[in-house]
Amino acid sequence: MKPFAYVRAGSVEEATDAFAAHPGARYLGGGTNLVDLMKLGVEAPAALVDVTRLPLDAVEELPDGSLQVGATVRNSDLAAHPVVRDRYPALSQALLAGASGQLRNAATTGGNLLQRTRCPYFQDRSKPCNKREPGSGCGALEGVHRDHAVLGHSDQCIATNPSDMAVALAALDARVELTGPDGSRSVPAADFHRLPGMHPERDTEILPGELITGVLLPAATAGLPSAYRKARDRASYAFALASVAVVLDVGDGVVERAGIAFGALAHRPWRARRAEDALIGAAPTTAAFEHALDLELAAAEPLRDNAFKVPLARRIALDVLSRLAPPATT
Ligand SMILES: Cc1cc2nc3c(=O)[nH]c(=O)nc-3n(C[C@H](O)[C@H](O)[C@H](O)COP(=O)(O)OP(=O)(O)OC[C@H]3O[C@@H](n4cnc5c(N)ncnc54)[C@H](O)[C@@H]3O)c2cc1C
Ligand code: SF4
Repeated sequence: MKPFAYVRAGSVEEATDAFAAHPGARYLGGGTNLVDLMKLGVEAPAALVDVTRLPLDAVEELPDGSLQVGATVRNSDLAAHPVVRDRYPALSQALLAGASGQLRNAATTGGNLLQRTRCPYFQDRSKPCNKREPGSGCGALEGVHRDHAVLGHSDQCIATNPSDMAVALAALDARVELTGPDGSRSVPAADFHRLPGMHPERDTEILPGELITGVLLPAATAGLPSAYRKARDRASYAFALASVAVVLDVGDGVVERAGIAFGALAHRPWRARRAEDALIGAAPTTAAFEHALDLELAAAEPLRDNAFKVPLARRIALDVLSRLAPPATT
């Protein structure tokens, strides 16, 4: 392993200053992804700026009814938080569907959002990968790609985003809060991750040196029926083949609000805007759900070996939508 400097930051300012002072630095959360990638030689930071001692480890209810989650809140703590379980069940369920208890005890909110793809070619330095080494090619295109994208991919990269938590945040209209050299800003969680296009080396909209300081869960989706469903090869401790987070609000017999996001289908959590638009104002029937999902998934372009993901995603989404709809409407 390449030698690297280690800096433990005590404040957000100390962290961003240390990052700026060490070209080639990386922020360090729980280390469950970054340290693995360092061992594989995929990441070789010149310095690690440890952010786990920053005062960003609280989950706080704000006066407007939103919920502020600090970037260093551990995945286990967030999943178990009573307000999250009660008002944003899809988020709690998504977190608990990810990794293992030990990993969730270490993993942070910020680190989870920025975990890298599990594409095996990305993790293997002997293979071509445009994300790891722009211009080197994509080993997965003609190689093993059963787990890869069916939506929004490009001829440069067909990887998927592996985070379960990010899918729930996208459906719940959460925002990602950032602080960097040019100040603070927030980005909708649904727009935080990018599609690969010609630049798969960029996973997200984060700018160099920016630190994730937290996530804001809005009052607008607090308490609405929501759920997360994940399909995978094993019952636990496996990444998704397809997953879905749904928020569904039905009033006066029609859908008033729908948030649907798919996981493991694309380079980012896939917010199903076409399906949502089709559902608004419709009665929440099985036929309406099927129609909406078919509209959305018509955009899918499966690869040689992963066409199964499209009907799988449709089935789990249909099941979640039907369960969230009030009884006797479907
Ligand atoms: C065996 C195994 C199985 C797993 N299964 C799943 C699964 O099923 N579902 C799932 O969703 N995940 C899964 N994971 C991934 C796991 O959730 C992530 O490794 C974890 O969430 C990353 O969080 P961390 O705090 O350890 O991040 P780190 O490893 O510390 O960091 C990850 C990245 O985020 C950056 N970073 C960290 N904090 C910040 C910050 N505040 N601001 C800016 N940048 C930051 C780092 O520089 C790094 O690039 C699995 C991991 C393993 C090892
Ligand atoms: S799919 Fe993306 S991450 Fe995987 S090898 Fe191709 S370029 Fe690399």
